[in-house]
Amino acid sequence: MSEEIIVRRTALRIPYSWAAGAHATRFYREIADRRRIMGTRCPRCERVLVPARKSCSRCFQDTTEWVEVGPAGVVTSFTIVHYSEPRIQPMEPPFAVALIRLDGADTALIHLLGEVEPSEVRTGMRVEPVFADEPKGRILDIRYFKPVSVD
Ligand SMILES: [Zn+2]
Repeated sequence: MSEEIIVRRTALRIPYSWAAGAHATRFYREIADRRRIMGTRCPRCERVLVPARKSCSRCFQDTTEWVEVGPAGVVTSFTIVHYSEPRIQPMEPPFAVALIRLDGADTALIHLLGEVEPSEVRTGMRVEPVFADEPKGRILDIRYFKPVSVD
């Protein structure tokens, strides 16, 4: 007897909380309260790390100085998302996710691009943040980055 096995598809929902830590907390608060994007400088290699980090991933030194960066920057890499997962995606596909090196930063921040057709996105494109009207202390307090207008 060959009977077809029933296969059911479901999704696990696993809510959890975690402490962001002092550096991430300040990073998010600066965005929410002052619309400033901050990095931290490594005292050894002098790179400015964005998002702000407690320690340098290259030197393993604790960072000691906070530095305001951007708000504009350059797309260094990107991908276009076509897959739809409305429960977790903040935008309707297709949309672009980019690595953005903000002015004054040495590392790139990953974020969404908006107000641009995905087919128009290029590396080297200058972009600036669009902040949320009602910040909640999270990375989406920057709704997305949009191309810098040139007028
Ligand atoms: Zn370093």
